[in-house]
Amino acid sequence: MHLATETLAGTVRITGVEAIPYALPYRRAPRFASGSVTTADNVLVRVHTDAGLVGQAEAQPRPYTYGETQTSIVAAVSGPLNGALAGVDPLRTELVAERCSRVAGNYVARGAVDLAVWDLAGQILATPCHTLLGGFADDVAAAHMVSLDAPAAMAEEAIEVGERLGVVTFKVKVGRAPALDVAAVRAIRDALPDADLYVDANRGWSYADAVRAGDALVELGVRAIEEPISIEDRAGRLRLADRWPVPLAGDESCISLAHVDRALEEGAVRVVSVKTARTGFTESRRILGLCLARNVPVVVGSQYEGAIGALATVTFAAAFASTAGRPAELTNFLDLADDLVVAGPVIRDGRAAAPAASGLGLEVDEDRLRRYRLDA
Ligand SMILES: [Mg+2]
Repeated sequence: MHLATETLAGTVRITGVEAIPYALPYRRAPRFASGSVTTADNVLVRVHTDAGLVGQAEAQPRPYTYGETQTSIVAAVSGPLNGALAGVDPLRTELVAERCSRVAGNYVARGAVDLAVWDLAGQILATPCHTLLGGFADDVAAAHMVSLDAPAAMAEEAIEVGERLGVVTFKVKVGRAPALDVAAVRAIRDALPDADLYVDANRGWSYADAVRAGDALVELGVRAIEEPISIEDRAGRLRLADRWPVPLAGDESCISLAHVDRALEEGAVRVVSVKTARTGFTESRRILGLCLARNVPVVVGSQYEGAIGALATVTFAAAFASTAGRPAELTNFLDLADDLVVAGPVIRDGRAAAPAASGLGLEVDEDRLRRYRLDA
């Protein structure tokens, strides 16, 4: 291992970035207020090098949040991002970030390229990314997102996941009619009296509905309320944040370092959701620094990534003191009926372990990739 480090560091160059669209079937498809998915139409990003090493990561298109589609992510990765990185040493992650930042927008595409380059850096140094980022803890508590459904079905899902994985923290999707949302959270609360609950409306409520639903949900003991209303209604968000005794969490309003800075300046957002799926490791780490400086808590969030994305999420969440002590959204890759990797993160007794292998610790099963890829 030591020999490999000495021989490879500084000698490897990126030769090309490849984007492979694929679709995975769901066992239990996610549903939330801003959209839903029936299959996981993701993109596998592969950063190739002259040493034969390949860095990999997964992009999850969310057109209702970022405007990016599977097609646009493939185009951005294989086009301008591929062009930006030719000849770059993958250990120079700041240079990679600077080159990629010349491509505007395309958060998810850029985030996946950043993760894939970090995967390469870990392989070159024969070190887990988790260690390269800071290696604060070996594991982190896992939170599960409960999708929209009938209240009884949502409670059943929470019970089942709690029993199977030992998870005690649930993010409950809301953003429908207030009475239905309150019934769903009450059903989960009744089923799991000791669980930690927070909710995510994905901007689905009107201001009036947010007042009605949010007030009742606070009574039911939810710990935070994520993106209650349109992120354009800045005055309304501020009124809600001041009204509720629990924090308003920013997600769709916090999709980049600059967005987080503006959101914190405006004052409504009092917990920030950081997702490696949109800000990679490099920009996510910058967001952590900003939040630390302002004493704003961070939740490491999920946009229903598959196992490849979940490996990146747990790597990041466990690596930092400011994230490792708080449950991270890590379990929903298990909603997929199948996946591309040989093994995803291990979740046991409610905790997810950071991968111990080099890089992101992911190994793609080429047979499954052939089965699920959409371009061949
Ligand atoms: Mg959210």
